[in-house]
Amino acid sequence: MSEKITFTPLSYTGWDSLAHLLEEVKRFDVKKILVITDPFLKDIGLTNKVVDPLEEAGYVTEIYTDVVPEPPLAIGEKLVAYTRENLFDMVIGVGGGSALDLTKLAGVLASHEGKVEDYLNLTGTKKITNKGLPKILIPTTSGTGSEVTNISVLSLETTKDVVTHDYLLADVAIVDPALTISLPPKVTAATGVDALTHAVEAYVSKNASVVSDALALQAIRLISNSIRTAVSNGQDKQARTDMSYGSYLAGLAFFNAGVAGVHALAYPLGGQFHIAHGDSNAVLLPYVMGYIRQSCEKRMKDIYDAMGFSSVNLSQEEASYRCVGELKRLVEDVNIPCTLKGFNIPEDAIESLTNDAVEQKRILARSPMPLLKEDIYTIYKATFDGI
Ligand code: NAD
Repeated sequence: MSEKITFTPLSYTGWDSLAHLLEEVKRFDVKKILVITDPFLKDIGLTNKVVDPLEEAGYVTEIYTDVVPEPPLAIGEKLVAYTRENLFDMVIGVGGGSALDLTKLAGVLASHEGKVEDYLNLTGTKKITNKGLPKILIPTTSGTGSEVTNISVLSLETTKDVVTHDYLLADVAIVDPALTISLPPKVTAATGVDALTHAVEAYVSKNASVVSDALALQAIRLISNSIRTAVSNGQDKQARTDMSYGSYLAGLAFFNAGVAGVHALAYPLGGQFHIAHGDSNAVLLPYVMGYIRQSCEKRMKDIYDAMGFSSVNLSQEEASYRCVGELKRLVEDVNIPCTLKGFNIPEDAIESLTNDAVEQKRILARSPMPLLKEDIYTIYKATFDGI
């Protein structure tokens, strides 16, 4: 059986890799650059680490800061309209997944007609036909892997949807852990467990391949080994570097193998209760994996080993069971609530969360165990009570 593997054409990784930005911009015939970031990153001077060298080299740059976490569709519509009106030659995204997703969207839809809504995966009717503007993506969180995926996620009224096409892939990704040093513990934890979830779901996905397996297992090793230190001591250069590589590898893994049940159930939590994407994934991760464990015991055993434990004297069944326990322990250790109650979600919301999660058919299809409406309800219920 043949497999399709897609990578972003060019990435720079490692400490101070941002130094490669100028030489990369010079490869493109551009003058006027839109830098898309969030207001906080501009205020703390992080965005200027990108903009200053470009301005010194004579490029005209404009900083766009109308980015909010988990960006709603309206924010995307506004940015795309702005990009079309102002005729930029290139877009550069600096930030977490929220800024990067908007950058890809703006870069591609700058050269298309119609609303962003027309291009949404679940309800859109228009097709993406060209690549649009050159795109450079520079993550400042170690989480989403957005810098290497072809996906832009937008929040709708009660759930999330995506615009996706290979034209959304960055021309260049620069993954510099030095840019993540300022991440506070809470964001480090949520984004870090998001990356771990990408790797775990990619590894058990029905679409997993030899290549995505290698990426996912190394991501699980790096993240499991470094996330506690990155949360408790954000200045630890090694932990930040490992988290940065871990989220990058996890992004490549899930872009090629896909995510499944955890994400399908997490999207409505973000949509209905505005819980950060990483937290939504984190609270669900142990419960979804616990529920589907028996459909992928061998793979859960491998994850247990990659997390730094030894399954040598254990049956596959026992190792997979312990794996679920260790995933839960990791989430608790980085101080993320382990129940829906802990996020103040009322029990009577389980019905509407279930109804929205069921709609994520494309994502659910990759689960190693089919997840029907009653399964999804049962998982939310277990996550509510924490049992
Ligand atoms: P985010 O971009 O929403 O940022 C979260 C917070 O962290 C913001 O307040 C931001 O200002 C702050 N922050 C970011 N970098 C910082 C730094 N270096 N120092 C201090 N503060 C910093 O968070 P995220 O989790 O990276 O992105 C979430 C979004 O990405 C969601 O919309 C989610 O659906 C999407 N997502 C996209 C993909 C994809 O493949 N495109 C994958 C997963 C998630």
